Amino acid sequence: MTIHTDILEMARQQLSVAAQYLDLDEGLHQVLASPQKTLIVHFPVVLDDGRVQVFEGYRVQHNSSRGPTKGGIRYHPDVDVNETSALAMWMTWKCAVANIPFGGAKGSVKVDTKLLSRRELEKLTRRYATEINIMLGERSDIPAPDIGTNAQVMAWIMDTVSMQQGHTVPGIVTGKPIELGGSEGRVEATGRGVVTAMEEAAKFVNINLGSADLVVQGFGNVGATAAKLADEAGVKVVGISDALGGIYNPKGLPIRELFERYSGKDGGIREYKDAEAVSNEQLLELPCDILIPAAIAAQINDDNASKIKAKLIVEGANGPCTPEADRTLNDKGVFIVPDIVANSGGVVVSYFEWVQDLQNFFWEENEVNNKLIRIMRNSFSTVQQVMAAHKTDMRTAALIIGVKKVAEATVRRGIFP
Ligand code: NAD
Repeated sequence: MTIHTDILEMARQQLSVAAQYLDLDEGLHQVLASPQKTLIVHFPVVLDDGRVQVFEGYRVQHNSSRGPTKGGIRYHPDVDVNETSALAMWMTWKCAVANIPFGGAKGSVKVDTKLLSRRELEKLTRRYATEINIMLGERSDIPAPDIGTNAQVMAWIMDTVSMQQGHTVPGIVTGKPIELGGSEGRVEATGRGVVTAMEEAAKFVNINLGSADLVVQGFGNVGATAAKLADEAGVKVVGISDALGGIYNPKGLPIRELFERYSGKDGGIREYKDAEAVSNEQLLELPCDILIPAAIAAQINDDNASKIKAKLIVEGANGPCTPEADRTLNDKGVFIVPDIVANSGGVVVSYFEWVQDLQNFFWEENEVNNKLIRIMRNSFSTVQQVMAAHKTDMRTAALIIGVKKVAEATVRRGIFP
């Protein structure tokens, strides 16, 4: 399903709602609605057959009032500068809600990685990293993986910047392989955080996880990990999908087996035969108690919000519900744990990785996971309190907290010069 929603407009509408609650000064509102720095690059890569192809990429820093900017790098054919700016803005609020000392950023390259060989992907990554290097720095802007990128891509970025600086700079990116200064627990962090948020929300809305049915859209890093950890926690996963479609079995799917065979491989899950094949549109509308959208933005929108049957939505993806869908779902009584709370586990453990890299002292996986779960639960309960105080939905409450913190930091620092 390709949705042409203006994602930046969507992020700005969310900011405006929070601004009204906070009675935000108009000038300050303008500061927060605009990305601080945007770089658009066009760069050539020599393909394996000798042809030269030019790619378009971006790096956007939204706001650095609370610290260096932080945000993933996405490789996907549909990215654009508006979407990248929206994702950077959401990162700013996410870091503030989780109370970690970063601002938000995002990077992307318009590319279908399935069309590239490994060598071409490496060359594209090294050249893109070189082009955006003027924005990066372990004290200024620190990328991480997102859709279409992984630990290997982060290793190439770290190596490229290190070659240019003349010494190894592990803190320049997070989500690296463990042997290059990555953190234990980082690969599973976003999915683990999503499942922790699901558990907290299930208690809040009285869903018994032992008898609940779960559907997950997206079987990549976030979706497959969330499905695996939910399955291990005893939740029945009845539907999963990737970009090419999904599978459904009301008796439950063998998630561990599917995870081991197909996670991160588009199309693979459809080879599993003891399930009904469904489209991504059908998947979202399946009968279930909990839905975790963990693919791309605007998947739940005006067209399908009224048909969603889940009672609880936990947003693994960034921006999976449009503001129109939000209104419809809230009216229907569906409880939504918003992205800036639900998927913040990734940036929380990225923060742990960055701290470990700067001090060259590494933690055990248990320590990482326990600290992550504690932060997720704290964020959930802080947002719950603001929800109750303002009698509002969870997204608005989270935005109130995030925007307020960033606004206060901006005012405290003052407008330079
Ligand atoms: P990924 O590339 O590992 O996986 C993405 C999954 O979505 C794949 O299974 C892919 O097949 C599927 N997909 C792509 N297009 C789709 C479509 N049109 N319909 C249905 N499925 C589709 O990416 P990821 O890292 O798991 O990221 C997924 C989402 O989670 C993104 O919105 C990302 O911004 C968000 N997120 C990721 C992290 C992280 O740490 N990786 C952290 C926070 C938020």
